[in-house]
Amino acid sequence: MSYITISKDNYFYNLQRVVERVESIEQVAVVLKDNAYGHGLSIMANLAKEFGVKRAVVRNLQEAEEIKELFEYILILAPDGVVERENYFYTINSIDDIYKYGKNINLELKIDTGMHRLGISPMELYFAMNLIKNRSLRLRGFFTHFREADELSSTLFVQRELFKTLKENVIDSCFNDLNIHSNNSAGLFRSGQKISSEMVRVGIASYGYLSGDNSLKFPSLKPVLSLWGERVGGLNYLKKGFRVGYGGVSKVENPKDRLSVYDIGYADGFKRLPEKDIVSRTFQTPNGNYLYGKVSMDSTIFNSHKEDLEIFNSVSDLAKIFNTIEYEILVGLSERIKRRVI
Ligand SMILES: *Cc1c(COP(=O)(O)O)cnc(C)c1O
Repeated sequence: MSYITISKDNYFYNLQRVVERVESIEQVAVVLKDNAYGHGLSIMANLAKEFGVKRAVVRNLQEAEEIKELFEYILILAPDGVVERENYFYTINSIDDIYKYGKNINLELKIDTGMHRLGISPMELYFAMNLIKNRSLRLRGFFTHFREADELSSTLFVQRELFKTLKENVIDSCFNDLNIHSNNSAGLFRSGQKISSEMVRVGIASYGYLSGDNSLKFPSLKPVLSLWGERVGGLNYLKKGFRVGYGGVSKVENPKDRLSVYDIGYADGFKRLPEKDIVSRTFQTPNGNYLYGKVSMDSTIFNSHKEDLEIFNSVSDLAKIFNTIEYEILVGLSERIKRRVI
């Protein structure tokens, strides 16, 4: 069976780069949403804990339940239910959300400073805060998400300023001791100085990627995940000129090319590469092997005879080929694939 390896060394290396950007590891919350960006929720949660991280961010309640014993603080971004636990913190994404919770639930208010996705708008903030006060709810945090932290533009600075103003002029007059946070990976590495008081929510950088505008000076990080395929059979009868796989896009030039079928396909999240990239061999494995024919649902042919073939140890090339971001390739990796730490 195909499998995924998780490099503990690389993960710890990246977390160390993150810790260098803050005053204390207490400020670091690892973002483990969506199966830890495809890396495996439970595996990454345990590694983060081993490193000394005390805070995590997840998408929903089910993810929180899976890691509830591992962290002192778990922020649920898109809650789909309520369980009362001291270490659970529920995001208020809209005014309606405020009516969903009782007095003993930890809440954090997400303010929309320009992303225009989820969050309370600055215009609604007074209303939201009065509602929270009147209902004697337990507000514990106030945060925002930046729209273009990974692009060169002034929007980030506008959002930062708005967030600061709202915090100082509205929040501080009603609540104290709130957990304040705004930076994701790009925001953290883009900020000129160390982040001294806020919590940071770090996703992609911990997994070894920081994309975005290349002129932004980011440190080099180390991708954590590798995908491996296992050989399920060889193609030993090939003759010169044979065409291989769906569409017959690859032609055998040398019958001595040793081709094998590997048990990884687009059903596993190894996406179907465009024909031109197969023909021109844009995509290569770390050892220089390339695909023959199109990616099938459950299998792919490579010019290799190895029993275990490392298919990639970084998704940056694939993200470029598919004109997307590393996040999308990573989260697309099937949960079925076995993950193990190396
Ligand atoms: C996904 C997410 C993050 C993490 O972003 P990265 O770019 O992966 O660091 C942080 N905050 C919120 C609200 C998110 O949804």
